[in-house]
Amino acid sequence: MEVIAPETSRDGWQRRIAYSYACRCKNGSPVPTTLTRWVPQAGINGYGHDPKDSPRHPRVLITGALGQLGQGLAKVMRERYGRDNVIMSDIKKPPPHVLQSGRFLFADVLDLRGLRELVVNYEIDCLVHFSALLSAIGEQNIPLAMQVNIEGVHNVQEVAKQFGLKLFIPSTIGAFGPDSPRNPTPDVTIQRPRTIYGVSKVHAELMGEYYHHRFGLDFRSLRYPGVISADTMPGGGTTDYAQMIFHDALTTKQHDCYLRPDTRLPMMFIDDVLRATVDFLETGSDKLSMRTYNVTAMSFTPEEIAAEVKKYVPDLEVTYQPDHRQAIADQWPEVFDDCNARQDWGWTHRYDLPTMCETMMNALVPQYNQSNNAVDAIEK
Ligand code: NAD
Repeated sequence: MEVIAPETSRDGWQRRIAYSYACRCKNGSPVPTTLTRWVPQAGINGYGHDPKDSPRHPRVLITGALGQLGQGLAKVMRERYGRDNVIMSDIKKPPPHVLQSGRFLFADVLDLRGLRELVVNYEIDCLVHFSALLSAIGEQNIPLAMQVNIEGVHNVQEVAKQFGLKLFIPSTIGAFGPDSPRNPTPDVTIQRPRTIYGVSKVHAELMGEYYHHRFGLDFRSLRYPGVISADTMPGGGTTDYAQMIFHDALTTKQHDCYLRPDTRLPMMFIDDVLRATVDFLETGSDKLSMRTYNVTAMSFTPEEIAAEVKKYVPDLEVTYQPDHRQAIADQWPEVFDDCNARQDWGWTHRYDLPTMCETMMNALVPQYNQSNNAVDAIEK
């Protein structure tokens, strides 16, 4: 049982008292313990204010932070909330630059007790749950996908409820299926996905919303489209080609696409994804008419992005050999309708296809030039 006391501090933070069943006595019956936390008061001094004005920033734990999105989000949040207030975690060994950038901890989302310990020991206010097996990888290991994507979600939801945390779990265009309208796909419509990834994400959306209505959990979710980033590599999704084409263009000048040339999918550049996530988390609860929103920036086909990349690498050759990922893409939205995000909390994208391509090229060309120079130097 959880109670939010009507007590508010001068800076707008609210005292939340959570009665939780954190330990068990010898005969196995649960013993209630009382936890008191200060949390940002919804709508008044939530995260939606200039961080410089606040004496206390939220302390955020990111799970699965070594994936495509986590490192970028940690960087953006550390700039806003302070280096020590954002903790990265994963089950992999971090590269040196991650260790140097701030605190990193081992956290397996399948270990409920370990998650509880981290939240208590590091005074976490907000959990960003990025750990997941993505669409293509998930189909290759369904039992593991069920564990990480379903059991892991149960664990973070339970911990967030128990300790009164704000909880963000991203969803995906993959939460829709062949029965959903594909162009455009609205927020609320038929969701009958046919991948374990999609099924587990619908489960996360519904469980989060249930915990919100039943226990007052501040659960939030954005359905991201395919994400394109320059600094990190994709983790095995169906939209990965839209990032790999840049690397192929700048190395072999040959891209073999696993989708048909006319496969239209919604996409976003990482900077937009991270900004959407932070803005959404900082929005006061009173502005949210829903807890799960579609967000997007653009929709394009492999043929269209190839034409754009060829403006920078004219001799790029693209061939098309659809594989098992084509069947997944054929069930997904072509165009995402994110009008509710735009209306409720002011979402606006900054990157369309040409600006995204220009930004990717500006970021990657120097990286490849540098590594080519290094190889030349070694060969000499
Ligand atoms: P990713 O696959 O790149 O990274 C996932 C991370 O989860 C990995 O670093 C992995 O080590 C970690 N992980 C796996 N099992 C774990 C466990 N048991 N405990 C803790 N960590 C574990 O994923 P991403 O692209 O960074 O995506 C982050 C989130 O955004 C995911 O929830 C994903 O579903 C969602 N999303 C991503 C995209 C995209 O295009 N990247 C699109 C839509 C939604």
